[in-house]
Amino acid sequence: MTAKIIDGKAFAARVRGLVKDHVTRLKEDHGITPGLAVVLVGEDPASQVYVRSKGRQTVEAGMKSVEHKLDADTSEEDLLKTVQQLNDDPEIHGILVQLPLPKHLNEDLVIGSIDPAKDVDGFHISNVGLLGTGQKSMVPCTPLGCLMMLRDHHGSISGMDAVVIGRSNIVGKPMAQLLLGDSCTVTIAHSRTKDLPDVVRRADIVVAAVGRPRMVPGDWIKPGATVIDVGINRLDAPEKGEGKTRLVGDVDYESCAAVAGAITPVPGGVGPMTIACLLANTVTACCRASGLPEPE
Ligand code: NDP
Repeated sequence: MTAKIIDGKAFAARVRGLVKDHVTRLKEDHGITPGLAVVLVGEDPASQVYVRSKGRQTVEAGMKSVEHKLDADTSEEDLLKTVQQLNDDPEIHGILVQLPLPKHLNEDLVIGSIDPAKDVDGFHISNVGLLGTGQKSMVPCTPLGCLMMLRDHHGSISGMDAVVIGRSNIVGKPMAQLLLGDSCTVTIAHSRTKDLPDVVRRADIVVAAVGRPRMVPGDWIKPGATVIDVGINRLDAPEKGEGKTRLVGDVDYESCAAVAGAITPVPGGVGPMTIACLLANTVTACCRASGLPEPE
């Protein structure tokens, strides 16, 4: 069997197109422009790349994009002040504080200071609680992108056995909540899970969010299962030239694609969906703030 490749790049382009159409209607019919603010503290190179890309795609979707770049030694007080100003700014509907923060800053405190209605990353404890109790919330972008791809591929995933490998607050746990919300039977595996290969072999849906390059081999995958690879791992690639690198996921793509029914590639799978969902969440937040119907 050769797996169908779930093309996250193409799907994300479709989502961005829908977002752009919605933004145009908000402007034309209501004179409202959704606004997204991204706060970056320090000079982590990967974060800088993400922030640039988020800013560019926000503008391409017709939205207002604001970037606050703060020095690595910014005090907690100054960062909280910046967040407060954005909370109070009626032209800003979404706020994202790029993680990880430098060590001297308390991430929980900073995320907790964002107005939950503007928390487009869905990391505020209010949104975590709302998601966990099946109520309307802001949903974390990466798991939301995974769910959208699963729904698109399967139609309904109700009743399917899903295994999420990884239990982080930003990917694994919210992913499990979303799968449960769609009536999957969900197992969350982690570094202490006993006999991980057998646990994964039961799954109709495998979501790998571990951060270990190519950890999941094809012989862990049930024939025909759907594999969603969240991992982004950068490896040296001397074959491409000196100092060159390449991205690989948390699953061994070749061997898994030979067994799975469908699989997301890395790059070009989950990654592009994350920013598309961020834009979609910003439009949702804007509609909720303005008392207008939300995009579907
Ligand atoms: P974390 O490091 O926060 O969490 C990793 C999880 O994997 C932990 O729960 C850990 O278990 C578990 N784990 C580690 N080793 C093993 C093992 N040997 N067997 C089973 N489970 C294990 O990572 P994130 O959730 O933040 O990210 C996961 C991956 O997803 C990374 O590659 C990251 O780069 C990528 N990512 C991609 C995004 C995208 O846009 N595509 C967005 C966010 C992340 P334990 O809790 O027991 O330590």
